[in-house]
Amino acid sequence: MPNTSKSILETSIEYLKGVGPVKADLLKKELGIFTFKDLLQSYPFRHIDKTKFHKINEINTADDFVQIKGVLSRIQIHGAQRKRRLTAQLRDDTGAVELVWFKGVNWLENNLESGVEHIAYGKINVYNGRINIPHPELSKPNENQGNSAHLAPVYHSSEKLNNKGLDSKGRRKIIFNLLQILQGERLAEHLPAYIMQKLKLMDRHQAAINVHFPKNEEDLKQAVRRTKFDEVFYFQLRMCQLKAHRAEHIKGLVFDKVGDNFLRFYDECIPFELTGAQKKVIKEIRIDLGSGKQMNRLLQGDVGSGKTMVGLLTMLLAIDNGFQACMIAPTEILAQQHYASLSEDLEKLDIEVGYLSGSVKGKKRKALLEKLAAGELDILIGTHAVLMDPVIFKNLGLAITDEQHRFGVAQRSQLWKKNRPIPPHILVMTATPIPRTLAMTAYGDLDVSQIDELPPGRKPITTLHKTEENRLYVFGFMRKLIAAGQQVYIVYPLIEESATLDLNNLMQGYESLERDFPKPEYQISIVHGRMKTEDKDYEMQRFVRNETQIMIATTVIEVGVNVPNASLMIIENTERFGLSQLHQLRGRVGRGSDKAYCILMSKKSISKDSFKRIQTMVRTTDGFEIAEADLKLRGPGSIDGTMQSGMGMFKLTDIIRDGEMIRVCKEMAIRIFEKDPKLNLPLNEKMRLHLEQNFHLVKGWSRIS
Ligand code: ADP
Ligand code: MG
Repeated sequence: MPNTSKSILETSIEYLKGVGPVKADLLKKELGIFTFKDLLQSYPFRHIDKTKFHKINEINTADDFVQIKGVLSRIQIHGAQRKRRLTAQLRDDTGAVELVWFKGVNWLENNLESGVEHIAYGKINVYNGRINIPHPELSKPNENQGNSAHLAPVYHSSEKLNNKGLDSKGRRKIIFNLLQILQGERLAEHLPAYIMQKLKLMDRHQAAINVHFPKNEEDLKQAVRRTKFDEVFYFQLRMCQLKAHRAEHIKGLVFDKVGDNFLRFYDECIPFELTGAQKKVIKEIRIDLGSGKQMNRLLQGDVGSGKTMVGLLTMLLAIDNGFQACMIAPTEILAQQHYASLSEDLEKLDIEVGYLSGSVKGKKRKALLEKLAAGELDILIGTHAVLMDPVIFKNLGLAITDEQHRFGVAQRSQLWKKNRPIPPHILVMTATPIPRTLAMTAYGDLDVSQIDELPPGRKPITTLHKTEENRLYVFGFMRKLIAAGQQVYIVYPLIEESATLDLNNLMQGYESLERDFPKPEYQISIVHGRMKTEDKDYEMQRFVRNETQIMIATTVIEVGVNVPNASLMIIENTERFGLSQLHQLRGRVGRGSDKAYCILMSKKSISKDSFKRIQTMVRTTDGFEIAEADLKLRGPGSIDGTMQSGMGMFKLTDIIRDGEMIRVCKEMAIRIFEKDPKLNLPLNEKMRLHLEQNFHLVKGWSRIS
């Protein structure tokens, strides 16, 4: 199918009227805009209604952006040299407001026209109790900003862009130039009519224009809807394609034996009954492992739901079938904890477990790698270091990642190469529950298993928020629990950049605690990152054996430690922890037979967001609710960082707010794919071509085979 608009959209950005080499360079560097298509897809984050003006006497500090029309006067320079700024006054029939510039002062001084009517658009700022508008966008009422519509797009900008005339107004101009070219070309539709009709979607060409320059609110709404649909729907189709491709072309190692290790461990070594959910998941995994296809499975479950046990049993299946297994964790501490606890769990079996991280060096490393390549190691636990090229397995049958959002698709694909010709089975465990819509996208290429049940006997945890003024109450509560034979964790934040400060903080806390909880009646363990591993272990063991009643620590106990007798967790400087971290920490109590508590300590005055985080923790212990709240608070911007997967997939769609769209698209993609997996039917041809031309997701992803 000839498609002229495709070649136009691939045109390099410097050939666009109004751009040229200097601006093109900046667009590439600052915004990743290389082609016409990239520019078309650099969407505005809001629109201003050009027909609506604020009256100056009605502006108040609660306003965000305002647009006012008035006459410019009193253009003045203040300060000298680098501190120079220019102010001007804009006056309408209700009052006056100050406009202020710190940059481009010379140019403005020569070009601003006093006594002439202007429209100013900008963000309200309060300085010394007075309102002003820094660096407003300024135009004259009759100045045609590229279109006659009254909704004008506003684009994200940066100082560098502003300096080169690529502020919102400048961008509006070049995008308008581009749309004019496209008017003549008309973008070809890539959705079949039956989908357009079913969902009543605006056509692609209209949407491309209206998402930037809509004539009215309704057009804008429809254009945004159509644009989001394209993003999500094609992404989901691609996921279906990928899965189908794997199922067809990628063989899986067949583990059909349930052998001695698995059975012995199951019968003799597990001190508890597996939960129904754990059993269900193991069944799902066993079906995968016996199917002759490669397993690519995501295992989701709340903190403490027992994912590690499922991972361990899966590794035993691999070993019983003559293969090696590995488990990778995102941090060294977590990897070490896994190594320690798995080594202990497997004590009774004849299984060799090794540990590898960046800090395993020299002879030790060499010896380990040799054993691994010779097949003398059955299980390797480690960090990202395991992914590196010199790490060669004799025959890796299973790779598990315990990832806390930190691995991406690309890293997963590196694991594939660790066994040839048939790649290992992959099991991804997420330590923090992730919202459903994120799971559908970031992990959309995986099959999902869910542990939706906690081991029996977990008590609900009561969470309280207290401040320094309540310290005596908190100490009193500690004494009461300790008198009843229970133990207490106290956790301080540790952030790399301020490690020394944090450590001082912890030591101060320790000293004051020693005064209020004196020996010999009370014994306190202390653990922090600057201690030697042996010393840490010693202190932890004292707490585990109930020789100390209080464990004061930095976040090291976030992982691994399991002391069912500890029934109270106190978190200091709670405002400095993220929500999912708090949830992980709290999961350390409530594992024994006593009622459990979590006390969140904070300063009295904390930011609104910190307060919301704390309130969320007080309100619920449901990991999914917490994960959703976390994403909402951190905003969509954080999602890209979260995924780090090179997918950078949605420009307009918000994974949380557009959840409904994501669900609709996913269902539709699956339905189409079931009927026509190769998209060979004539009515699906446009979609196939569009996918082929536009979706190079992560390179090498589907080529790995
Ligand atoms: P997570 O899912 O957070 O990784 P873990 O695997 O660390 O959870 O398990 C948390 C704790 O629960 C561990 O001490 C583990 O031994 C214990 N556990 C796991 N499964 C069960 C079960 N079925 N019954 C009782 N305790 C269990
Ligand atoms: Mg875990």
